[in-house]
Amino acid sequence: MITAFVVNSGSSSIKWELVDVDTERRLRGGIVERIGEAGAAADHAQAMEGILGELGGEHPSVIGHRVVHGGNEFTRATLVTDEVEAAIERLAALAPLHNPANLAGIRAARAAFPGVANVAVFDTAFHQSLAPEAYTYAIDAELADAHSIRRYGFHGTSYQYVAARAASLLGRPLEQLKLIVFHLGNGASVTAIDGGRSVDTSMGMTPLEGLVMGTRSGDIDAGILFHLGRAGLTLPELDTILNRRSGLLGVGGIGDMRDIQAASLAGDAAATLALDVYYHRLRHYLGAYLVQLGGADAVVFTAGVGENSAPTRAAALAGLDWLGISLDTFANNRTSRDARVISTAASAISVLVVPTNEELEIARQSIAVVAA
Ligand code: ADP
Repeated sequence: MITAFVVNSGSSSIKWELVDVDTERRLRGGIVERIGEAGAAADHAQAMEGILGELGGEHPSVIGHRVVHGGNEFTRATLVTDEVEAAIERLAALAPLHNPANLAGIRAARAAFPGVANVAVFDTAFHQSLAPEAYTYAIDAELADAHSIRRYGFHGTSYQYVAARAASLLGRPLEQLKLIVFHLGNGASVTAIDGGRSVDTSMGMTPLEGLVMGTRSGDIDAGILFHLGRAGLTLPELDTILNRRSGLLGVGGIGDMRDIQAASLAGDAAATLALDVYYHRLRHYLGAYLVQLGGADAVVFTAGVGENSAPTRAAALAGLDWLGISLDTFANNRTSRDARVISTAASAISVLVVPTNEELEIARQSIAVVAA
């Protein structure tokens, strides 16, 4: 059996999955948490030894690692060498919370599975197809260059999986499709995809830009930061405020979509405002990307909120029949774990729900790298 061992290594946890490459079935999986805390694995190497035990002698054909930031250097999944490790370490300047944790997982896996190929699959790689006008910020060019400031985009692995699945659901080649994909989880972004290539995306240099998220603000006027700085707030405080205490949590007091929708239904005015801001932003990007793409064949929803929240999808697309987007209310409200069409037969633009599967996409890309 050909298997891929998929590793998503965070600062204090390692999520893993063993995938049968031929059937694309998940054979086993788990999560090691609280790495570094008392009573748990001391470090990533020890956590990996534990996972090795759980694999029970299974020898994976390839190990695929999620890596958040590939900067300008990585446009596709890449075989891990010492040079690639060094590059991921260098790029930690752009993702200080994520890349070091991803690298710890890579190093632990290389040590624990000698002789097995490791592949790095980057969240940013899919968006390296953006044109300069889409990725350039309108700031001083030399400064931007010196600090690697540009739009990189994230959730790329999810977009690749979902775009391919949407094409098969529509029964059309991906190369002929214009798609607008909303990846709405705790972190959220939206991407305009033309012929399988990312042409615009809402997250930027960091995963803070764009849509309203559970605890992140998404787009704000950068002038707000100067205003708050002059009022005495420090940089670490501003970082915490925008990344951890904003978004749905900041406006409505609750960061979890299910919980805040329940609070709004119960009459909580702040929760209702937070949701209205969230929906307003979704519609802002939908309009923008329809124009950037010159129309669309389908609008696709994925990740925790996108897959499960019928009210969110309904709010994002309300009143757009004039544009050719007509949601089938019954289909939208039906609970399902399958990829499905939720627009009416008359809708010129299809609306789809496609459950994402980043682990499977990492497994596919990793096998493709070692096969090449
Ligand atoms: P992450 O970005 O951490 O991977 P997920 O993709 O799992 O997050 O999405 C988590 C979000 O999905 C949470 O805000 C959660 O409330 C929301 N969610 C899950 N199920 C539902 C549901 N039935 N209705 C509304 N929101 C939901």
